[in-house]
Amino acid sequence: MSPLLHMAGPDASRKRHDPLQQYDEQLLCDYGEDEDEDAFEGMDGDVEYMRNEFEPIGDDDDDVSQGVADVTPENTKSKAQRSMMPTWLQDEYMDARTHLQSEIAKTGRPACYNNGQFTMTAPPLVFSRTVPFEIEPIDFYRPQFFVWLPHLFQRIPCPSCKDMKRSTKQGQPVMLRVLGWPKQPRRIVDLEHLVFIIGHRYRCVHGDCKKTFQSWSPAIMRVLPPPLAALFPFHLTYRCGLTDRLVGVLRASFQRGIGPFPFAKYIRTMHIRYYERLHVSYLETVRQRMQASASGLLPSHRPFPLWNDPSGYAGYVPTHRYFRAFYDSLIELHANEMDQHMAMLSAEGLSHDHSFKVRRT
Ligand SMILES: [Zn+2]
Repeated sequence: MSPLLHMAGPDASRKRHDPLQQYDEQLLCDYGEDEDEDAFEGMDGDVEYMRNEFEPIGDDDDDVSQGVADVTPENTKSKAQRSMMPTWLQDEYMDARTHLQSEIAKTGRPACYNNGQFTMTAPPLVFSRTVPFEIEPIDFYRPQFFVWLPHLFQRIPCPSCKDMKRSTKQGQPVMLRVLGWPKQPRRIVDLEHLVFIIGHRYRCVHGDCKKTFQSWSPAIMRVLPPPLAALFPFHLTYRCGLTDRLVGVLRASFQRGIGPFPFAKYIRTMHIRYYERLHVSYLETVRQRMQASASGLLPSHRPFPLWNDPSGYAGYVPTHRYFRAFYDSLIELHANEMDQHMAMLSAEGLSHDHSFKVRRT
């Protein structure tokens, strides 16, 4: 008997007959802790993988598979499963695209844009006007989508043609045309949960260019007006990405001596805490429905899926190796600015620590 059930004491025998017991027991589920995470530290394959992850992102990454982040051929099966993309994501993505398309056809913009936000997610069940006959666990963890369609705000010049100083026959800047939706949304890690970016693909019709771009590519961000580009709060790596606020916490933590390993644990704890709140919310809803149903003729409720089940909640947090490599790449990116800052310091200022906590290896 697990310690928690043992602590139930006198209630334990009553609990045996409680139809909610099977759900309650799931709260004791194994989250697949990373005790063996260091086993792959420094392995050649892993180092190579991390190097690729922090290569510059291409203009069009439509064929990049995101589902294997943090996985090397040497890794265990459980690790590979943990970082798989949710199996239900494609269906949710197709539904979201259909919604967006009909909203754009009606008003020229997605409904979330008309509400002044980029985020599109299913509201909690309490907002529903009708009481559904059947509830599913996924009703409690539908993906949060960030809809990034900058062409709906203004026409976008081709970054490549702009660099090459190419123009149209009329002497105008070459503008991009819409090519369609990407194959899949981009998975991003936030402080407590995942976010999926829905973007768009563009193509250049100039005969000497014909390049394609994703709306989230750095090349597109470069040619957008800075106030619009600033509303894209993500830092993308080759297959993964972090929200800007997570990066803010990462920088503050690393600069104050909290290393990559405790930091990864901390973020993982926050994600699992969020998952458990959803789980409890599901259980409470099931309990309420069972108590409210006089006839008892309710459809049976499915158990809430495990944290790292790709066909269920599909929780994912990068490893400490990823966070460390991310911080290193961030420091490298700003190395010139730091050098300039140090060159401007007075002799008195130089006596302080200005290492910016760069990892020395
Ligand atoms: Zn072009």
